[in-house]
Amino acid sequence: MTAPAQAADATSSLTTDILIAGGGIAGLWLNARLRAAGFSTVVVEKNTLGGVQTLGSQGIIHGGIKYALSGSLTGASEAIADMPSRWVASLEGRGELDLQGVRRLSEAHYLWSPGSLISGLAGFFASKSVRGRAEACSKADLPEAFKNSSFKGKAYRLSEVVVDVPQLVARLVELGGDSFVRAEQLLPLREGGVLCGLRADGIEIKAQRVVLSAGLGNADLLSQLGLSTPQQQVRPLHQVLVKAPKLPLLYAHALGMGPKPRTTITSHIAADGDIVWNLGGDLAEADGVARDEASQIAFAKHELADLLPWVDLSSARFATWRVQRAEPAQNGLLRPDNAFLHSDAALMVAWPTKLALSPNLADQVLAALSAQNITPQANGARPDLPRPALGQAPWERLFA
Ligand SMILES: Cc1cc2nc3c(=O)[nH]c(=O)nc-3n(C[C@H](O)[C@H](O)[C@H](O)COP(=O)(O)OP(=O)(O)OC[C@H]3O[C@@H](n4cnc5c(N)ncnc54)[C@H](O)[C@@H]3O)c2cc1C
Repeated sequence: MTAPAQAADATSSLTTDILIAGGGIAGLWLNARLRAAGFSTVVVEKNTLGGVQTLGSQGIIHGGIKYALSGSLTGASEAIADMPSRWVASLEGRGELDLQGVRRLSEAHYLWSPGSLISGLAGFFASKSVRGRAEACSKADLPEAFKNSSFKGKAYRLSEVVVDVPQLVARLVELGGDSFVRAEQLLPLREGGVLCGLRADGIEIKAQRVVLSAGLGNADLLSQLGLSTPQQQVRPLHQVLVKAPKLPLLYAHALGMGPKPRTTITSHIAADGDIVWNLGGDLAEADGVARDEASQIAFAKHELADLLPWVDLSSARFATWRVQRAEPAQNGLLRPDNAFLHSDAALMVAWPTKLALSPNLADQVLAALSAQNITPQANGARPDLPRPALGQAPWERLFA
């Protein structure tokens, strides 16, 4: 069931139940859940739908195993352990959202130790908490990309799906119906000094609750509201994209000497049918961020020649993409353990921290609304306002 927002004044103002700022995965998933629960919603997006981080993400629906590599299972692993099954339920049309038709790029991803197992890793995979969720691959079970006589090392299969993010975004936009508004400037709207909505390029949008889910943009929106908390942390990345018609499909984290993957490779299907590898992991972090584009590409070519010497990349095109991951501030820039929601009076501030955790973020918002006795109120038509376009994955823009 969906309920459109209500037009209070035909041109300059409208009223809705929940006003969401930002149309990345956080805003899109939340919007679809709220509409399914009968709330009227407006999502204001300043650029294109699908976000910044979201459309360039690697699409892995983590259940936490990768993050538990450093030893005992952490809060992160426990908090996200049920995400893969919730996503699969939605992808199969029996979950909280109907995502049938969104392609699953892979049923699993792999942890792969190109040399001998690093110490402690064998024990990790044998541990009770990981058994059943990660299986050592026999030669016959290896993904096609590893089926080469030069392949050395060991691979573990993690039963966590990888989704086609552009298709996911398109489906969530479809589920969002007429809720989207494009506006470049969002300013607070107050009545009697109390926040009652936002002014979007001059249009007053009144709401029972305002949710900031603008990724990196949350910091600016908070400062517009005169707030210094919750604080945001930013982790810059310098991803490498490799495009060719016939790259093997691979979803794998190549392990290095430490617990963090030295390179994570995911494969995406471009609009022209070519395969695009999205290379992240340690390669895209600190040293990778410091490299300029040419050096980062040279580094990636060297890394791929070392890891997958049998893959012919002679006709592949390379590009790099800089992005900043935005999350709530944590001591020591540690990875946050969960989706984050801060709720204070009419304002909620959200960072999903991972694409996979968007369902958890929506749960938190719905629970907060229920605790605050916020129920669907606004109904009716809404004025014709500018609508944001659907965004493109970075590989569509960079290789155009
Ligand atoms: C390279 C990369 C790979 C990743 N891989 C994975 C993965 O495999 N699995 C996983 O679970 N997670 C992954 N992540 C993390 C995941 O992508 C992010 O946690 C998630 O996409 C964040 O979503 P978001 O909606 O908060 O932000 P975004 O996608 O950045 O969207 C924010 C939106 O808000 C809009 N906005 C900003 N300011 C304003 C404003 N003032 N008014 C209105 N709108 C505004 C922006 O234009 C944008 O559309 C990855 C991230 C990156 C960068």
